[in-house]
Amino acid sequence: MAEARAPQKSLPKINPVDRPFWEGAKNNKFLLQKCNSCGKVQFFPRIACVDCFGEVSWIEAKGTGKIHSFTLVRVPRNPAFKEEAPIYYINVILDEGVIIESRLLGDNKEKVKMGDRVKVRYEQTHNPDIKLPCFELA
Ligand SMILES: [Zn+2]
Repeated sequence: MAEARAPQKSLPKINPVDRPFWEGAKNNKFLLQKCNSCGKVQFFPRIACVDCFGEVSWIEAKGTGKIHSFTLVRVPRNPAFKEEAPIYYINVILDEGVIIESRLLGDNKEKVKMGDRVKVRYEQTHNPDIKLPCFELA
């Protein structure tokens, strides 16, 4: 009889385009792409600038921003996350101007309001090569 497999927490599937971002996160650095031609900063990573198709370089972001929106996930679709519910799912506007989806962590997360300042906090996953950039109230 087959052994029942415990649900696994889902992880990002890293590809060649976003690999530098995940390498940065592993080293506690928040990397964003900046266009070499027009200067636009973009997230998520792409092969070229979304405005002018120029080549992009990687820059280190400050890892700070503000809450753009948030919601509470009380019943995660993946049962592996059940014990962590409610999960504070957030959209953050980084100080560099891009919006990122992430999670809010920390003992005071239930006090979150729109516009609150946040700072990045890297969470180790069960894969030693992947850390997730999450946030906490600043
Ligand atoms: Zn550009």
